[in-house]
Amino acid sequence: MGAVIDLIREDLRGFTGYGSARSEKLQGEVWLNANESAWPSAGDPGDGCRRYPEPQPPELAEALARLYGCVPGQLLIGRGSDEAIDLLVRTLCVPGRDAVVVSPPVFGMYAVSARLQGAPLIEVPLIDGVESFAPDLHALAEIALSRCARLVFLCSPGNPTGNAIALDDIAALARRLQGRALLVVDEAYGEFSSQHSAIGLLGEHDNLGVLRTLSKAHALAGARIGVLAADPALVAALRRCQAPYPVPAPCAALALAALSPEALARTAGRVAEVRSERERMRTALADVPGVLRVYPSEGNFLLVRFADASRAFAQLLAAGIVVRDQRAAPQLGDALRITIGTPAQNDRVLRALSKGTLA
Ligand code: PMP
Repeated sequence: MGAVIDLIREDLRGFTGYGSARSEKLQGEVWLNANESAWPSAGDPGDGCRRYPEPQPPELAEALARLYGCVPGQLLIGRGSDEAIDLLVRTLCVPGRDAVVVSPPVFGMYAVSARLQGAPLIEVPLIDGVESFAPDLHALAEIALSRCARLVFLCSPGNPTGNAIALDDIAALARRLQGRALLVVDEAYGEFSSQHSAIGLLGEHDNLGVLRTLSKAHALAGARIGVLAADPALVAALRRCQAPYPVPAPCAALALAALSPEALARTAGRVAEVRSERERMRTALADVPGVLRVYPSEGNFLLVRFADASRAFAQLLAAGIVVRDQRAAPQLGDALRITIGTPAQNDRVLRALSKGTLA
């Protein structure tokens, strides 16, 4: 069995990346090494942005590691988890050769990154079960191994399906793929789930990676801070392939503020509110005429099937409510994804849908 580092593209294994001025650990008082301005920006009275930022701000890395229950060396911080997805595909997949496996319907960026890299995309559809959607883990493993995939993406809780994948199943799949492929579990919505994070499995599986983000529960989508938690050797290799300064200083400051104990307590309160609203909406939507099915959800959204989804979409839009149309997604020709809003916004959704005849 190979080490996780063997999953990196052969041509990048000795790659040292760009040696930025910031990455040279020099001491001094007069900084004339990075062609920065000697004067503050006219638009930045606090002078917080004149210098290039730390590539991986240490204080933020510490705070994120505390939050996710790992060590800073296991974390790659980037411009949202989107950047980590792209970086994984570019660093692990040789174009035209190494495949990426996904289970649609699922978040679209895995396929987009694969396409941009010229990596073959293999789709193993989710199974629409009695309870909820679920991945076909046996088929995933078989196909990943027989088609020489380098990356398998699972989304838990799934977007847009809302299902969480049991940790035992994740561990079993990682074991089967050991030495052959990296299993990446995208936990963008992990805070809303009752299931523990797969980050707890990292110690036992060097071919496992977990994506987390501050964009959802932490309400910082505009700051673009996301992480990959993975084996430190893999993280170090990915850092060498990452853009020189991926974490803008104002974004790092916002993220740090959101990770203070007081802010985290407020966030936990919001998450509890979202979860309770999610269950209220699930029951209420199921009673709306014309609603065929509301899937259980571990995320901050609900996937809803309608007798006439285009009419439901139009009806919501006419009431000023914009939801995500899923009708182009495989298996979801009659579905909309509705994010959980404030209680008042959710009531508005119910009123809008109950107005006309959707049935
Ligand atoms: N993963 C999933 C499942 C998502 O739904 C999203 C955003 N919609 C992302 C990752 C990307 O999140 P970000 O780049 O904001 O961290």
